[in-house]
Amino acid sequence: MEHIYNFSAGPAVLPTEVLQQARDEMLDWHGSGMSVMEMSHRGKEFMSIAAKVEADLRELAGIPANYKVLFLTGGASTQFATAPMNLLRGKKSANYVNTGEWSKKAIKEAKKYAAVNVAATSEDANFTYVPPQDTWNIDPNGAYLHYTPNETIGGVEFNWVPDLSHMKVDMPLVADMSSSFMSRPIDVARFGVIYAGAQKNVGPAGLCIVIVRDDLLGQTIPGTPTMFDYKIHADSDSMYNTPPTYAMYITGLVLEWLKKNGGLAAMEKVNVAKANLLYGLLDTTDFYHCPVAKADRSRMNVPFTLKNAALDDEFLKQAKARGLIQLKGHRSVGGMRASIYNAMPLEGVKVLVEFMKKFASDHA
Ligand code: PMP
Repeated sequence: MEHIYNFSAGPAVLPTEVLQQARDEMLDWHGSGMSVMEMSHRGKEFMSIAAKVEADLRELAGIPANYKVLFLTGGASTQFATAPMNLLRGKKSANYVNTGEWSKKAIKEAKKYAAVNVAATSEDANFTYVPPQDTWNIDPNGAYLHYTPNETIGGVEFNWVPDLSHMKVDMPLVADMSSSFMSRPIDVARFGVIYAGAQKNVGPAGLCIVIVRDDLLGQTIPGTPTMFDYKIHADSDSMYNTPPTYAMYITGLVLEWLKKNGGLAAMEKVNVAKANLLYGLLDTTDFYHCPVAKADRSRMNVPFTLKNAALDDEFLKQAKARGLIQLKGHRSVGGMRASIYNAMPLEGVKVLVEFMKKFASDHA
């Protein structure tokens, strides 16, 4: 089979070694006679898998001891409600930065529980840039500030972490890191809560990882469902109910792969190289166009259009024949989107760039 390079935005490509190991361990995990899918989540085998996933995550991301790590179901979308329920802590309002489709969803959900102050938005330019922090209008009475470090659909990424140190009150920073989690080093101590669906950089769908500073626990709004209470999950090591066991196991294999490959700093270098290669091409031709401001371009999701949209279908067809799949852009944006998460090798981006050059010269 010709090598396939999968540019899906998520669920996304996983490291081949991880899939091979999962295949080898599918019927009998480490001599237990069971597939991981068949194990009790409270048995010693799965407990050892879960403990290793957390330990490796803590090591790779440098998670301080005063942060809890939760392994939850419900996707990042559930966190759009869970975050306000846990973090309002008696306050009435919360600050949100609106940089695109995922921010908008988070804001829409938060409005059910809080008066949302949109501290900044890039809607004026169709979400193609990150508003600089000195233009933000933060409500000092807001319980927290929520932002989306990487907008998966628009391809806009913060290459900096908002600085709330000038705020006189405790205002935790809350990040929906779904599509950039573990793609570069993270200074966890800057955040109150980080949440991320696993299905882009670290594993399969079904698992959402939440990292929460422990002083923020235990202050949910009245009526919060048990399953939405971070403290319940923290106190039971994410075993209050059945966690997504197989997704956690695969995530564990991905974390081992990350460690073997030099951790987050090494991953960042490769991710920068991949992004530079692709944006380099987009900027040297007018056959393709990327709408995002240069400083705010995503290293993970690269949206681009063809000057002649009538060629879109032909582009996708020929790309597929070359083994380059899932390049179709999100329905709300059109054009193409190449997602180049951790597990996409540099070679895959090289093949894509060569294909794009040839396609452009064939259709000049
Ligand atoms: N936030 C971002 C930034 C995302 O990219 C996604 C999924 N594409 C979500 C939230 C929603 O995640 P889920 O589908 O796991 O609920």
